[in-house]
Amino acid sequence: MLLTISTTHRPATDLGYLLHKNPARVQDFALNFGTAYVFYPEATDERCTVALALDIDPVGLVRGKGREARTMEQYVNDRPFVASSFFSVALGRVFNSALAGRTETHGELAETEIPLEASMPVLPARAGGDALIERLFAPLGYTVETHPLPLDEKFPEWGASPYFAVTLKATKRLQDFLTHLYVLIPVLDNEKHYWVGDAEVEKLLKRGGDWLAAHPERETITRRYLKYRTSLAREVLARLEPEEGLAEEPRADSAETPEERLEKPLSLNERRYRDVLAVLKDHEVRRVVDVGCGEGRLLRYLLEEKSFTGIVGLDVAHRALEAAAERLRLERMPDRLREKIKLWHGSLTYRDRRLEGFDAATVIEVVEHLDEARLAAFERVLFEFARPPLVVLTTPNVEYNVKFENLPAGRFRHADHRFEWTRAEFAAWAREIARKYAYAVEFRPVGDADETLGAPTQMAVFKK
Ligand code: SAH
Repeated sequence: MLLTISTTHRPATDLGYLLHKNPARVQDFALNFGTAYVFYPEATDERCTVALALDIDPVGLVRGKGREARTMEQYVNDRPFVASSFFSVALGRVFNSALAGRTETHGELAETEIPLEASMPVLPARAGGDALIERLFAPLGYTVETHPLPLDEKFPEWGASPYFAVTLKATKRLQDFLTHLYVLIPVLDNEKHYWVGDAEVEKLLKRGGDWLAAHPERETITRRYLKYRTSLAREVLARLEPEEGLAEEPRADSAETPEERLEKPLSLNERRYRDVLAVLKDHEVRRVVDVGCGEGRLLRYLLEEKSFTGIVGLDVAHRALEAAAERLRLERMPDRLREKIKLWHGSLTYRDRRLEGFDAATVIEVVEHLDEARLAAFERVLFEFARPPLVVLTTPNVEYNVKFENLPAGRFRHADHRFEWTRAEFAAWAREIARKYAYAVEFRPVGDADETLGAPTQMAVFKK
């Protein structure tokens, strides 16, 4: 199994500094499935090529597995010859520093986009073939060349194999180039060898964080990388969703790793849904309506909990409901789940009898989208007419906005927000509602609270 990476950036031999591997030496690395060799077939000022060759021990692979697991296929398989997930593991080990963008001597070059070319003489693409290779790499700016390999050159009538010779060219920072290979090569391979668990989620978020969110194939990538374990895949996709309203949010300071930068806004989004979910569960809610459900992010969390027997998402925007249907894969949902969930088109500013009879309503980051006259109508629709025993409502805490460095002073987190409230303003509004409609109300911070500014999101829990 072989991968070569070449550059024509001059002096090309600087590639050795970026990779922390001296072009004059052959190095080997012991891995638990074989040995990785690194060497340079060419190293001139004009062009430098590094090769990563993996010598996989197919018998070693079955060692440690139970006796009944030892079929012939485990000894005789294509693993030693194709670039597969082993390749990612080796890449992670051997080019660890370059993947992390670390270099002692060539910091500027590491940050520079340089012409790079990767060649893999044998890359498996069992499901999706060369079209998938193109779909994975082209959106990231790669020129992709693929040549199908015949099953056997001597017997052309046997047809094509699922393997391709692949060349990828792009002008990129070396770190990004390696990262794309690291994530996408196992995606092409159906036979991922190592156990996919929570650590894999973290790995994918760490390596895929900043570009995966924008990739048109992010669902395929995530699902495949996590080997069709849908709950894990869903978690990653949820964490990749940009925080609603924080589109203009700063990407924090440069001392942070991309992962930390990513986690910040994402964990707030995620924590909001989790906190809402916890309140619903504490109150043993069975039937819940999420008003202003948007693209159905909370609905997805609700669906995962068996305790909810009826889940409705309501929104005024058709487009949002379509996106929700797609996100939830309503069409392909098993009947058992499909019966539990409904998406309704409707407005929160008109009385709607369908909203009556739920155990709870959730109103997540919605009120700030309503202008004042509509807000008054919404209050009556929900608290006077629908009157669920429990209402969980969240909205931004405007005091916290100064912490978003790139958000100009006085600007709201989202262009469509009609207002954003301080904690005192929110509390006054919520207490007035509680008084008028005979509810008790409690307040809870969501996200890491700042001592003086409070938490980024504020939550009110109303109980009848
Ligand atoms: N709750 C979602 C979406 C928040 S964005 C989430 O947390 O991701 C606000 C949503 O409120 C949008 O989808 C918008 O279409 C919806 N909305 C705004 N005014 C509305 C109204 N009058 N009736 C129903 N939904 C409304």
